[in-house]
Amino acid sequence: MRGLMQQSPLDVAGLMRRVERLFGHKRVITATATGEVVATWAEVAARARRLAAVLDTLGVPDQGRVGTFGWNSQRHVELYLAVPASGRVLHTLNHRLFAEEITHIIRDAADDVLFVDRSLLPRVWPIVERLATVRRIVVMDDGGRADLPDDPRIADYEDLLSRVREPARPAVVDENDAASLCYTSGTTGRPKGVLYSHRSIVLHALMLLGADTFAISERDVVMPIVPMFHVNAWGLPYAAMLAGSDLVLPGPATAPAELIDQLERHRVTFSGAVATVWRGLQPLLGAADLSSLRMVVSGGGAVPGALSKAWQDGAGLPLTNAWGMTETSPVVTCARLATVHDGLDADARREVLRRPGPPLPLTEIRIAGDEGELQAYGPTVAAAYYGAEGSPASFTADGWLRTGDVGAIDRYGYLEILDRTKDLVKSGGEWISSVQLENEIMAHPAVYEAAVIAVADERWGERPLACVVPVPGAEIDERDLRAHLAGRVASWWIPGRIVVLDEIPKTATGKFSKVSLRGMVGL
Ligand code: ADP
Repeated sequence: MRGLMQQSPLDVAGLMRRVERLFGHKRVITATATGEVVATWAEVAARARRLAAVLDTLGVPDQGRVGTFGWNSQRHVELYLAVPASGRVLHTLNHRLFAEEITHIIRDAADDVLFVDRSLLPRVWPIVERLATVRRIVVMDDGGRADLPDDPRIADYEDLLSRVREPARPAVVDENDAASLCYTSGTTGRPKGVLYSHRSIVLHALMLLGADTFAISERDVVMPIVPMFHVNAWGLPYAAMLAGSDLVLPGPATAPAELIDQLERHRVTFSGAVATVWRGLQPLLGAADLSSLRMVVSGGGAVPGALSKAWQDGAGLPLTNAWGMTETSPVVTCARLATVHDGLDADARREVLRRPGPPLPLTEIRIAGDEGELQAYGPTVAAAYYGAEGSPASFTADGWLRTGDVGAIDRYGYLEILDRTKDLVKSGGEWISSVQLENEIMAHPAVYEAAVIAVADERWGERPLACVVPVPGAEIDERDLRAHLAGRVASWWIPGRIVVLDEIPKTATGKFSKVSLRGMVGL
């Protein structure tokens, strides 16, 4: 016998209806290069409806990919709503990636049109100029001073919005249809696309509202510092819509002093970012009134104990850790204090909060295999990658995601991350591929072999360390090697430490043994 309940789809259009009907009076505040823009959710939703009509006018087909290069801004939120709600797929792009990677991703996703913040044009234009498959490039004027290129494909966001006469055509969306697309970067091989569905986005937003997750409510003022091009800003804009929170968006104003100013002035209650951001704000904590903050989430990497203590001392609350991946929407676990922690003192409670914590409702985690790999399962976890590049090795026979992290789970389900099997270095929240970096180092004529490992770094979380073996008779000049890399990889990939060795230790199967290598260089 089947249940007899309504099949109301979980979709982005539903989120939009809710925020405009119930929370139209609440606010979205965006910092721009020249000041601040304040709008109500009613205005944002109305503009998103016009934007859907613009996509019709531009001829973006059903399920067509709409790429964005944008800061955290009101217009980006409008795209978050209009693109999926009108049956298209939002593809957020990270402008910090290497040009070749961006080119590959735009081609792989087959982006039909692109929306670009004006301040990002100087970075993005030289790349997209040559991509003839992108039919239109819509510039969002964020006060950036970049000149507009002379190209017939260029249009202005506000100009297009002002010309709308007809409402958007109604879209028929199944909750399992694709809503947005985000590429993971830095893994060995090409970046891989993760294709979120309407259903996974709505469920993930609902999970963030949970009292034992972020407990986001109507009373909150949510400020996502995590970029909107990175896993939908951890789903925070959608959670804010569902709850009816005010949203504060830092735009390009991401310098520590600017972030502190926004947290303080707008009485922000909840914020999320990677540890590198929180470390950057640390010296300014004493001088600011951050008493409105009730939860500060530090995700995407480990939370150092000293940093969390500095936040407790300077801002009155410790950092809360969360674990996730692009493949998992991203939040899967979130630290929290349960009844079993009731007897703990402040230091011990802070220690609990700086670890990833237990899985959110509806998600499951387990440790499997010889290496103790963390695996994840649930309706907000990817089942496959987009396009042909997806590697089946990332999924188990019973359909769980292999995360490439090594962890342990205690009897209450609390996760601890111990190591990583994937060949990556995470610097300032962004990935560096060790393999790609090794290949570029080995392209230098004096280098015989090279292996890159991650070393802990106070400021960036991790930095790459290069171990190089010279060709017999050759000498390795560090400065020369860095100059060689300068033209081949992004500047922030270039290793600060280079160690010259006689040999790179190998495993039984002939691969670089990074464990032995760590021992050799004294890590
Ligand atoms: P995000 O940066 O949003 O977490 P990515 O897909 O770029 O998403 O990175 C996911 C990886 O980052 C994880 O597989 C893990 O290696 C690392 N990571 C994420 N959260 C944590 C955490 N809380 N502690 C330690 N490592 C983490």
